[in-house]
Amino acid sequence: GKPRVAVIFGGRSTEHAISCVTGGSVLAAINSEKYDVVPIGIAADGRWVLESGDLDRLKIKDRVLPAVDGTRPGVALAQTATGTDLVVSDAADAAGVLGEIDVVFPLLHGPWGEDGTLQGLLEMAGVRYVGAGVLASAVSMDKGFMKVALAAAGVPVMPSIVVTAREWARDTEGCRKRSAELGYPLFVKPARGGSSIGISKVHDASELDAAIETAIVHDPRVLVEGFAGGVREIECGVLQTADGSVRTSLPAEIRIGGDHEFYDFEAKYLPGEHTEIDCPAKVDDALLARMQELAVTTFEAVGCEGLARVDFFVFPDGSLVVNELNTMPGFTPTSMYPQMWAASGVEYSELVDLLLEQALSRSTGLR
Ligand code: ATP
Ligand code: MG
Ligand code: MG
Ligand code: MG
Repeated sequence: GKPRVAVIFGGRSTEHAISCVTGGSVLAAINSEKYDVVPIGIAADGRWVLESGDLDRLKIKDRVLPAVDGTRPGVALAQTATGTDLVVSDAADAAGVLGEIDVVFPLLHGPWGEDGTLQGLLEMAGVRYVGAGVLASAVSMDKGFMKVALAAAGVPVMPSIVVTAREWARDTEGCRKRSAELGYPLFVKPARGGSSIGISKVHDASELDAAIETAIVHDPRVLVEGFAGGVREIECGVLQTADGSVRTSLPAEIRIGGDHEFYDFEAKYLPGEHTEIDCPAKVDDALLARMQELAVTTFEAVGCEGLARVDFFVFPDGSLVVNELNTMPGFTPTSMYPQMWAASGVEYSELVDLLLEQALSRSTGLR
C-alpha cells in the first residue's frame, strides 16, 4: 500500500500553539494519493492524541493565542481547531502507533521535539523521519553548544557566555561580571527556546538581573550574548533532497517596525502590523553567494539533515554572523522557510513532498 506518514504536532514546549498551526498546514498539503496520513497531536502535558484522521478538525481558524509566559497577551494568530487544548479523549500509545508508520514528519518546535528527544525515540523504534537527527537537533537547540560547534567550523557567531541557574544562585555577582565583560547592550535568551519567548534586550547593568530571571523561567541554561548593532536580519533556507544534495533558498530580510526593538514574539506572529518581510531579500550577488555558502557550512557543521533555516546578521561593512539555526523552522505557508522556497521556485506542497522523500531515502542505521 501507500507509505504511512505520521504528522506529529503540538508538544510540551511554549511553542505548542505555533506547532499546531504548522501541523494543520502540512496535513492539508500532503498528497493523499501518494501517502496515508496519520495526524498525531501531543498535548501540552505530553500525552499523545490520535487525531483519527479527521482532517476537518485541523482546519486553520483565526483565533486568539493566549499569552505565553513572558509575552504580552492577546496576540492574534491563525490556529488549528485543536489549538492549545488538544482533547486527550483518544489517547494513543506512542510505541504502538509508531509500529505502523513508515515515516514521521515531526513538526515540533523547541524542547521535547526539535531537540533530539523525539528523534531519539524514532531512532530506537527504527522509524524514518524528516529533518535533523539526534545530535544535530540537540546541538542546534542549545544556543550555547550550537556556538561551540559553529565556531569550531569557522562560522562567525556573536560572543556569548552561558549562565546556569545554579551558577546564578551561587555566584550572582560573578555572573554579572562575566556578562558585563561582553559589553552592554546585551541579549539574554533561554539557551533552548524559540519564537523569541523569554528573550530580552538588556540596555545596561540595571536590566540584567530581570532578564536572566525571565530566561531562567524557561530554561535553567541561559545565554548572555553581545548585541549586534546596526545589522540587517536575513534568513536563508537549506534543503537536503533524496539524492543527498544540499540546496539553499533565496534569502529573506526581516525589517522590524519602529515600535519593536527586535524580532520579538509579536513581530513574528503579527507580520505586516509590526514587521516587513522582503522575500527575496535585496542583496547583491556577492552577498547572496557568501550567505548561501555560509548557510551550507552551518548546516554541515552541526550535521543537519533534511532542512534548516539559518538566521544571519549582516553588519554595515558587509560581514556576516550566524545568529542561530533552527532545525524545524515555522512551517505554515506564510512562515519564512516555505516563503523563501516559494520565492526560489519550490512551492509548499512540493517542499513537503521533497522532505518526505528525503526522509524515506534515509538509512535507519548510523548515518
Ligand atoms: P526563532 O523563532 O527564530 O527560533 P529564537 O527564539 O531562537 O528565534 P533568536 O533568533 O536567537 O531567538 O533571537 C530572536 C531575535 O532577537 C532575533 O531575530 C533578533 O531580532 C534579536 N536578536 C537576537 N540576538 C541578538 C543579538 N545578539 N543582537 C541583536 N539582536 C538580537
Ligand atoms: Mg531559534
Ligand atoms: Mg526556532
Ligand atoms: Mg531566530
